[in-house]
Amino acid sequence: MKSLADGMYRILSEGALTVLREAKILENSGRSIIHFEIGQPDFPTPEHVKKAGIQGITENYTRYTVTEGIPEFVQAIQQEIQTTRGFTPDLDQILSLPGGKPGIYLTMISTVNPGDEVIFPNPGFPTYGSLSQYIGAKSIPIRLKEENQFRMDPVDIAEKMTPRTKLIILNSPQNPTGSVMTKSELEHVAEIAREYDCFVLSDEIYSKILYDRDFYSVTSFDEASERSLVLDGFSKSHSMTGWRLGYLVGPAPLIQKISTLVVNTFTCTSEFIQKAGIAALTGPTDHLEIMMNAFRTRREILVNGLNEIPGVTCQMPAGAFYAWPNITGTGLSSQELAHYLLHEAGIACLPGTAFGLGGEGYLRFSYATSIDLIAEAIPLIKHAIEGLEK
Ligand code: PLP
Repeated sequence: MKSLADGMYRILSEGALTVLREAKILENSGRSIIHFEIGQPDFPTPEHVKKAGIQGITENYTRYTVTEGIPEFVQAIQQEIQTTRGFTPDLDQILSLPGGKPGIYLTMISTVNPGDEVIFPNPGFPTYGSLSQYIGAKSIPIRLKEENQFRMDPVDIAEKMTPRTKLIILNSPQNPTGSVMTKSELEHVAEIAREYDCFVLSDEIYSKILYDRDFYSVTSFDEASERSLVLDGFSKSHSMTGWRLGYLVGPAPLIQKISTLVVNTFTCTSEFIQKAGIAALTGPTDHLEIMMNAFRTRREILVNGLNEIPGVTCQMPAGAFYAWPNITGTGLSSQELAHYLLHEAGIACLPGTAFGLGGEGYLRFSYATSIDLIAEAIPLIKHAIEGLEK
C-alpha cells in the first residue's frame, strides 16, 4: 500500500477506548469489573425526546435537510443560547451537527493552518491535541494546576500568546478535572483573544452539569460574532451520546464556511434526530434535576471515599461527572496504577496521561455509575492500594 496522507501518521486514538477494550476482555474471561472509564451518563434518554425521534421516523422525517439544520431546530438553539448565554445569535450563526465532536474538528480544520499555534488545556480532552498534530499545527498545551483547582489560568495563556496563535480552546466545565472557570477568568481570556485577534473555541458540552454555581460562557463577551464559538450538544445533558447531536454557534462568515465543509462531507444532521433535539430543548427538564441529584450524591461518596485512601487526595469537582484524584502518594505512575487497579481490583479507570502529560500523577474516575457500585469499589481500591509494596 502507498503511504497515507502525512496527518494520518500524527493523529492519535483515545485512551478511554483502549481501557474499555481491555476491561471487556477481562469481563469476557469471567472477571467482574466495575466501570469508571466511560464518559457518558448512565441514564436513558428522556422519554419525550425518544418519542419525538420515533415520531420523526414514523412521519418520514428521514430525508436530507438544509445543512445548517431545519428552521425549528435552529430557532430552538437560538432560544437556548439566549436563555443560557444571555445573547441572541442570528440564525446564520448557528449550525446543527451530528454530535459535539465534529464541531471541534470542523472549527480546527477551518481556522488553523500548518505551523499556526493552538492553545488548549493539559490535561484536556485528547481530541484537541490529536487534531492539532493532525493539522500540523504547533500545540501549546497549558498546564492545569491543582493549586488553581485545575482551572485554566488566563495569565498562563497570556504568557504563551504569540502572533502565530490562531486558536484558544477552552473547556469549562472541564473533562477530565471537573474544573469550572470563573466569569472574570473568561472575561480575561476574551480580552487576550481580542488583543491577539485569534479565535476561541469554547467546548461547553458539560454546560448543564454544574454543582451549585452559575454557568458562564466566554462567548457572551463578543456574542459569538467576532471570534468565539460555542460548542454544545445533547450527549451529556440529555444522555444522548449514541444519537449524535450537537451544534456550533459562531461568527456568521466562519459558520458559513464550515457549512460548506459539511456540504462536502456529511451533508446534514438526520432530520428525525433534529426533531428529537427540538423536544430536548423545548420540553420538560425534570430529567436533568434527577440526573444532577444523582451525580451530586455520587460525587460526594466517591470523592470522600478516595480521600480515605492512603496516598490519594481528591478535590471536589465543580462540574461534569469526573473525579480527578492525585495519586502521587502511592508511588506509582498513573499508567501503572490504572493497570494495577484493573487487574488486581477489577476497577476500570483512566490514567491521567490519557489526557496529556499534564495528567501524570492523576487518575480519572467517571461517576456515571450507580451509588452501589461506587460504594462497592471504594474498599476494593483501598485494599489494592494498601497492598502495594512500598
Ligand atoms: N468535548 C468534551 C470535553 C467531551 O468530554 C466530549 C465527550 O466525552 C465531547 C466533546 C464529545 O461530545 P459528543 O459525544 O457529543 O461528540
